[in-house]
Amino acid sequence: MQRALVCGAGGFIGSHLVRALKREGYFVRGVDVKTPEFSPSAADEFLLLDLRDAANCARALEMPGGGAPEKVFQLAAEMGGMGFISSASSRIMHDSVLINANMCHEAARRGVGRYFFSSSVCVYRDMQPGEPALCEDDAYPAMPDNDYGWEKLYSERMAFAHARESGMKVRIARFQNCYGPEGTWRGGREKAPAALSRKVAEAPDGGVVEIWGDGLAVRNFIYIDDLVRGILALTDSDLDFSPANIGTEEYVTVRQLLETIAEAAGKTISFRSIPGPVGVASRNFSTARIRSTGWKPVFSLREGIARTYPWVAEQVALNNKQKTP
Ligand code: NAD
Repeated sequence: MQRALVCGAGGFIGSHLVRALKREGYFVRGVDVKTPEFSPSAADEFLLLDLRDAANCARALEMPGGGAPEKVFQLAAEMGGMGFISSASSRIMHDSVLINANMCHEAARRGVGRYFFSSSVCVYRDMQPGEPALCEDDAYPAMPDNDYGWEKLYSERMAFAHARESGMKVRIARFQNCYGPEGTWRGGREKAPAALSRKVAEAPDGGVVEIWGDGLAVRNFIYIDDLVRGILALTDSDLDFSPANIGTEEYVTVRQLLETIAEAAGKTISFRSIPGPVGVASRNFSTARIRSTGWKPVFSLREGIARTYPWVAEQVALNNKQKTP
């Protein structure tokens, strides 16, 4: 039985990845500073460890029965939507780089076979609507829009440096925005699909929700099940020393995202622009590299939101019920 370590297993993508690995027959150890918020982890073992500490990384890699796991999936990070990313630069750069430096170094030293690292399309420069797609090599010369992107770019390079020197097979995905049930939906770290779903759930039919900026920024959103399949396909692929973008080819404005959510809710919703951290103007990335593994997304935005909105609406209703004496 292959053994996998999932770092960040208490988070959104990590907890879904653990479930997928269990379905594939792995022995899975999850590690995080917290357990999953919405349902119990499917991992065989779950360790609560702070991975900024090298000794904890070493502890996480010492599997039951001895030795290191065959595969490590490194998703632990200081993470959030634009509101968080634009206000927590030092925390992101300090904490995430420590996690990545220590985990990658210990994994290489201990002979881990395959090491997956979750990077982001935030490594790319800002784009204007209508620009042709950027491919992975276009991340250089580097000009990420935010410090979160700079940390990811540095950690990508660090992981590949360890791969060159140790022989560990490093696989790096640059994720587009991911959404789905059991993602953060409130508290300041939620991303646009969850934040807008919450606002629509809270609004009456015919109501108004606030969006940051004019809502014309172009974005791409990938449903969690598609992303998790992409992680597994990339990790098992022979795509050495080349990060791969994982996203769909469906680009929408934030206004169109809101319309899709309102449609799933069966409500007529209009919006009011308010000042806020909008982020880049546009996105457009090639997915040819990940598609070369045979992977392709199957969920349209409409289908993914139709599965996500009801879950967010249920959280809103549960929360309201708890508040009512
Ligand atoms: P998440 O915040 O839900 O999960 C990250 C997990 O890392 C959390 O459970 C958190 O507790 C854990 N963590 C943070 N500091 C830790 C520490 N010191 N020790 C151990 N665990 C720690 O985020 P997510 O959306 O599941 O993202 C997973 C990964 O994918 C991250 O690396 C993120 O940067 C990357 N990513 C996500 C998206 C997206 O749209 N969700 C897009 C691009 C990249």
